[in-house]
Amino acid sequence: MFERPTSVDEASRLLAETPFAIVAGGTDFYPGLRDQWPAGPVMDISAIEGLRGITEEPEHWRIGALTTWTDLIEHPLPRAFDALKLSAREVGSVQIQNRATIAGNLCNASPAADGVPPLLILDARIELASGSGRRTIELGEFIQGNRRTARRADEIVTAILLPNGSTSGVSHFLKLGARKYLVISIAMVAARLNISAEGTVVDAAVSVGSCSEVALRLGALEEALVGKPVDDLASHVTAEHVSTLTPIDDVRASGQYRRDAAQELLRRSIVHCVSEVTNA
Ligand SMILES: Cc1cc2nc3c(=O)[nH]c(=O)nc-3n(C[C@H](O)[C@H](O)[C@H](O)COP(=O)(O)OP(=O)(O)OC[C@H]3O[C@@H](n4cnc5c(N)ncnc54)[C@H](O)[C@@H]3O)c2cc1C
Repeated sequence: MFERPTSVDEASRLLAETPFAIVAGGTDFYPGLRDQWPAGPVMDISAIEGLRGITEEPEHWRIGALTTWTDLIEHPLPRAFDALKLSAREVGSVQIQNRATIAGNLCNASPAADGVPPLLILDARIELASGSGRRTIELGEFIQGNRRTARRADEIVTAILLPNGSTSGVSHFLKLGARKYLVISIAMVAARLNISAEGTVVDAAVSVGSCSEVALRLGALEEALVGKPVDDLASHVTAEHVSTLTPIDDVRASGQYRRDAAQELLRRSIVHCVSEVTNA
């Protein structure tokens, strides 16, 4: 069975009756089939109206579920979104960025999904719709594990919401892979800092991906940065701060290498954020 609804209501009605597999850009969905068409029903959501684009609303920025990485790169956004834009440029190739959606990256819930760390530092919330209405849930609760999310079978993700209180400051994203492009990360980090006119950190948000089953915010490091002068800020990133990560050993890197890499990437991203403010 194959359906291509044109509205969220129609999609919700169909999902209430049948547990369709959802496909948006298809760049995770089709490679995941590995030459086998799925046994179950498929719903292509790419024709649903109103789900593509980025808008500023009174309480948050809204990224529609069909917004592609290229849409994001091309849309003017505050500097706090720089980390997210940098991650967009790292997703596959330009062809993938033109087709693939940000929401699809989150719903696929890979530990190496490039969109997750930069959305975590923006306190992203996920909006879901079903026949019984809409609900929102924090991104950190939405992704529950490797390929596991809190989405119910009758729900469709309609948007990613970035609350106004979390879209200030400057941000940066760094991804380490075995080569520069078209690569699954060994480790990646995102950092967002609010720095006062006097040169101290007012607010900090940092996250690490590919070093645990689900990308994580590092709360202890954030606390350690707040109130500190920006001179030599990176020296506050210690091995203890990355000790909460649980990276695996695999063909790309050992767990210890990943943890060391995360620490170094965090330092570099913090140095970059500081330079963005002090050189402005
Ligand atoms: C060559 C190649 C290179 C890649 N490189 C990278 C990379 O560097 N970094 C990276 O992070 N990813 C990479 N990817 C993975 C992929 O491109 C991204 O994860 C992309 O953002 C997925 O978006 P999509 O719209 O194509 O998702 P789809 O493939 O359409 O869907 C992915 C999953 O999300 C679900 N889904 C999608 N939209 C919704 C919705 N609105 N509501 C509910 N469920 C939904 C689908 O059911 C499916 O399970 C690469 C893929 C390829 C093929």
